[in-house]
Amino acid sequence: MMQREIRVIAGPCAAESEEQVLRTAHQLMDIGITVFRAGVWKPRTKPGCFEGCGEKSLPWLQKVKEMGMSVAVEVATAEHVRLALQYGIDTMWLGARTTADPFAVQHIADALASVTDKSSVTVLVKNPVNPDVELWIGAVQRIKGAGIGNVIAVHRGFSSYINTQYRNQPMWQVPMEFCRRMADVPMYCDPSHLSGRSEMVAEVAQQALDLGFDGLMIESHCSPQQALSDARQQLTPDELRKVLSTLVVKDNTNVTGLEMLRNEIDALDEELLNVIARRMQICREIGQYKKEHNISIFQSNRYAEILRRLTESGQERGIAAECTQSVVEAIHKESVRQQMGN
Ligand code: PEP
Ligand code: MN
Repeated sequence: MMQREIRVIAGPCAAESEEQVLRTAHQLMDIGITVFRAGVWKPRTKPGCFEGCGEKSLPWLQKVKEMGMSVAVEVATAEHVRLALQYGIDTMWLGARTTADPFAVQHIADALASVTDKSSVTVLVKNPVNPDVELWIGAVQRIKGAGIGNVIAVHRGFSSYINTQYRNQPMWQVPMEFCRRMADVPMYCDPSHLSGRSEMVAEVAQQALDLGFDGLMIESHCSPQQALSDARQQLTPDELRKVLSTLVVKDNTNVTGLEMLRNEIDALDEELLNVIARRMQICREIGQYKKEHNISIFQSNRYAEILRRLTESGQERGIAAECTQSVVEAIHKESVRQQMGN
């Protein structure tokens, strides 16, 4: 079977010091990584956190380029684009928060439109924080509209109010739909921000490869425990080497449109199960509450009302009443069982 080539971008969450940058870059180069990533301007949720070293770190990255690696930084404003180019950095990524903001994306696109040799620039567009495939496609279109041909999409998961094993929910159906609709844009996965945990990076990366992803962006730091941001999810270059050696790459050059649609369905089925599992968790809490307050588990009025409401909204979406009824019935039966705690 022909082995397709998986591209890997690796490097620390942020450039923290010249020493950390160069040490990490040397170790990554030794394991065969050719594209180095490092955040220079870090978007942080709350003030008071480490926000990157800014322009001061660009000369450190220039040294990494002189070592023979390509270098990628995150850009969130036109000024970031200008500075990156001024220091010879021609691979840039739009972070998840930026992709969610069409004004910011357009400013970046306008700054890129003035580059003379556009074929020397590569732009990676991470998915927006919210699972909105149109916003993601729109951001890619804006960058392409600026004349940049080398555009890559990066799936890093979606933020969510609920806590799960993932830092950001994979919702694989969203990148699958993106790939179906934007077939000429390569799709990478960032298992570091998706999982949020170094020990889960291999598993998520393998899932991505099984779905036909073209590359990976993985956070790697020479000393993860000392990292000033995202310490929990970074791998040492040696750990990264081990992860990469376990990954199995299957040939997907002949994936048909039908298979792509089936992949999307499989991802949606997983999502359905996630939603049902979350429902069951709440049912167990309700069960506990009812027990403490001496309320009966089964309340037929409420069930009849839920069934009526869902059947109606299912019909509005083109789902036959019998289908909604049997699904609701099966879920309800399991919910009662879970509420009773058996
Ligand atoms: C990053 O890559 O360091 C980053 C901030 O990622 P994201 O935009 O995916 O949160
Ligand atoms: Mn990070």
